[in-house]
Amino acid sequence: MSASAATPKPRGRLFFANPGPTNIPDSILLATAHHTVDFNDPSFSEVYWACMDGLKRVLKTRQEIFLYTGSGHAAWEACLANLFSPGEVLLVLESGHFSQSWARMATDLGIEVRTVPADWRRGVDMAALQAELAADKDHRIKAVGVVHNETSTGMMIPLPEVRAALDGAGHPALLLADTISSLGSLDFRMDEWGVDCAVGGSQKGLMLPTGMSFTGVSHKALQAHATSKLPKHYFHWSHMMKRPLKSFLGTVPTSLFFGLQESLRLIDEEGLENVFARHTRLARATRAAVQHWSGNNGPQLFCTNPGRFSDSVTAVLMPEGHDADAFRKVAMQRFNLSLGGGLGPLGGKLFRIGHLGDLNEPMILGTLATVELALKVSGVPYQPGGVDAALATLG
Ligand SMILES: *Cc1c(COP(=O)(O)O)cnc(C)c1O
Repeated sequence: MSASAATPKPRGRLFFANPGPTNIPDSILLATAHHTVDFNDPSFSEVYWACMDGLKRVLKTRQEIFLYTGSGHAAWEACLANLFSPGEVLLVLESGHFSQSWARMATDLGIEVRTVPADWRRGVDMAALQAELAADKDHRIKAVGVVHNETSTGMMIPLPEVRAALDGAGHPALLLADTISSLGSLDFRMDEWGVDCAVGGSQKGLMLPTGMSFTGVSHKALQAHATSKLPKHYFHWSHMMKRPLKSFLGTVPTSLFFGLQESLRLIDEEGLENVFARHTRLARATRAAVQHWSGNNGPQLFCTNPGRFSDSVTAVLMPEGHDADAFRKVAMQRFNLSLGGGLGPLGGKLFRIGHLGDLNEPMILGTLATVELALKVSGVPYQPGGVDAALATLG
């Protein structure tokens, strides 16, 4: 008998607890199911500019936004290609898999990358960053790149502290922030924090399908763009500014804008600050469960720096000798619960619970209870009662 015949498909709706892509609310799904429209038609322009205003409210910026038909990687590349000339220096704050991937992309594009190294469980030391900047007397560092919320480790890097390190060193470098898994989930203030390029994507906190990404761009970044010499065309901000919609070369993904319009309506209806508070509440409940499970040499929080816990994703380190991917397979095959896996060198070592976007108490409690059940049936050691510990933080 084949394995598939022996293992019946789990019943019930796929329970999706990944940190991205995230669950899409039904009203957004329905909004994206829109008939085709001409993106040059005035009735679409109205939707488009309203979305731009809404995105600016979420980014907390009055500056520019450029959009791309492509996932977050596209906006990463747009950010770099528009700002740098070959051989210029990007200083990356190491945080985990995503900071490494962005750095690798920069290297491939011909940018010289320097790194402020960091323990992935604790995050970068701001004093080390400030020392690196202060030592760069002739200002060869063109920009500092930081992943605001490192999705691979469940750690948030406080951007005001990065800003303070730049200002403290009196360094004029641009500040580039990847907000892909923080925007619309965690507090982010592009203009107040002096972020020059904010990279965002559709499929995480904005609760949309994958396929659109964008960069918030400061006036200072636009000046840097004017002299940047890295090759680019589709991502070229100057080409975009000549288009009627001041963005997008080529076809505009109109369905995603109908979805974005609904996403922004949902965010406005709840209130951005209430959105953040909900993420904080559900993240605390998640961490309480994991901290409880750890009691019996069980799984533990990967992030060991409480000031930097991420409120949109929690990475859970498996006990020695227990494979996280085998555990995730049990959760998926027996209970239809999809969890995030370990990325890069963390593959098999940890699993990740996404708690961002369209999420409420029943969803996170369902996830936590099912994780506890999957630990039980997998024979992974843990201290029972994590769900009660989560409940104690709620209500
Ligand atoms: C998901 C993610 C990315 C990559 O975005 P894609 O949309 O998958 O290309 C980059 N950075 C962070 C922090 C992410 O969470």
